[in-house]
Amino acid sequence: MKDYLSILIVGTVLGASWLGLSGCGSSTADDRTDAISAVELDERWSGITADRKDPDMTKKVVKSDAEWRAELTPEQYHILREGGTERAFTGALYQNKDTGTYLCAACGQELFASDHKYESGSGWPSFYQPANGRGIDEKVDRSFGMHRTEVTCSRCDSHLGHVFDDGPQPTGQRYCINSAALSFREAGEESKTDPAAEDSADNPS
Ligand SMILES: [Zn+2]
Repeated sequence: MKDYLSILIVGTVLGASWLGLSGCGSSTADDRTDAISAVELDERWSGITADRKDPDMTKKVVKSDAEWRAELTPEQYHILREGGTERAFTGALYQNKDTGTYLCAACGQELFASDHKYESGSGWPSFYQPANGRGIDEKVDRSFGMHRTEVTCSRCDSHLGHVFDDGPQPTGQRYCINSAALSFREAGEESKTDPAAEDSADNPS
């Protein structure tokens, strides 16, 4: 079973690499198929990062298109909810070098850490691994006649970008993420109100 999963992961990675793509590209919801399971992602990242066991971080966020439109800017809505891509070298967080955590701009889930951010030259924020094995989902994206791996938020299913296997060591992965799909929380601000924590406030005493 483990070998089979490894073959799946390697196959996906090679598929993306074979195309030699350097950009994030765009995708449409219609073409999202063959989701890579959480088990595979856990296997990929086990031993590299600690799993998050916080149940609130695994609770799905489901909202109507009207609700998302009301909460997000037009650009954020296009990228996060319609699989759009911002123009390269334009994102506010593209060259951000501050220490902290990158959150989903739609639901506030932790996605990436500044420790794993690097300059890829692609024009989009790039990370060589996610902050943990549960923040993102990866799905095969066959839109535009290409075979790529789309990265989405595991909590609200928003489109974030794509992952390619031309990244630096130790993982060789390049998570190419739209700046507009992210919000940044500087280190030391963790105790401030997190939109992800709102639901846990109604604990009966
Ligand atoms: Zn999200």
